[in-house]
Amino acid sequence: MDFIQIRDWGIGLEAIAEEQPILISGPCSAETEEQLLRSCLELAQTGQVHILRAGIWKPRTRPNSFEGVGKEGLVWLQKAKELTGLPICVEVAQPEHVELALAAGVDILWIGARTSVNPFAVQALAEALAGKDVPVMVKNPINPDLKLWMGAIERFYQQGIRKIAAIHRGFSVYGEQRYRNAPIWELPIELKRQWPNLELIGDPSHIAGKRELLGELAQQALYLNFDGLMIESHCQPEQAWSDAAQQVNAADLEELLGNLEPLRAAS
Ligand code: PEP
Ligand code: MN
Repeated sequence: MDFIQIRDWGIGLEAIAEEQPILISGPCSAETEEQLLRSCLELAQTGQVHILRAGIWKPRTRPNSFEGVGKEGLVWLQKAKELTGLPICVEVAQPEHVELALAAGVDILWIGARTSVNPFAVQALAEALAGKDVPVMVKNPINPDLKLWMGAIERFYQQGIRKIAAIHRGFSVYGEQRYRNAPIWELPIELKRQWPNLELIGDPSHIAGKRELLGELAQQALYLNFDGLMIESHCQPEQAWSDAAQQVNAADLEELLGNLEPLRAAS
């Protein structure tokens, strides 16, 4: 497998130092234009964030929760991109999302854990991207099945997509445990062993489920030589419409990053 590295995705990231982990941040969900722009501008001002994220179609576990603002959020994301000069990424779960996101100038698409678990859904997305030179980040499926994760990645690869990275967001478990999703580090480690040039992004936010535990998980990912981190950040985390307990504001994100040692080893 011959994956193209994130710095070579042609979205302005080539100057990031090799030993520097790629940092993706932004709110779990775009809620209002004001919330999204404020969150993104505060993150850009830290000078440490390389890619902005926000969900606009939210795959919620149960109905009647906030399910995202939909395509209206793409306009706000475009504004965030213009104002900060940073590339933007969103989650897509259906071919229609792909079409709308690409038309709105989204730089990177990500596949969520409730989509990567479903080969039919992944295949439909991969076919919607066939022949398009779009970067895709594939989250692990919610259950700890390495082959399913690899299979999802292969479906995009088979449609000619080479700008692919994997995101480790932990695995569903029943009952109360330290982390909302079990990290089961053996899986991302084995994925990297099988495909050494596939870059791996750690998502401590969705593993932890609580902001107090982000630091230890981010640190663990860096010790394991992950290539980057995706950390959810919101201008007013306690008021977030989704994943309120795990988001941090930009100042807290800076502090968290400042406490991480060591940086990724130069390879
Ligand atoms: C998200 O990144 O906000 C999200 C919904 O993630 P996951 O698919 O990992 O649950
Ligand atoms: Mn989230």
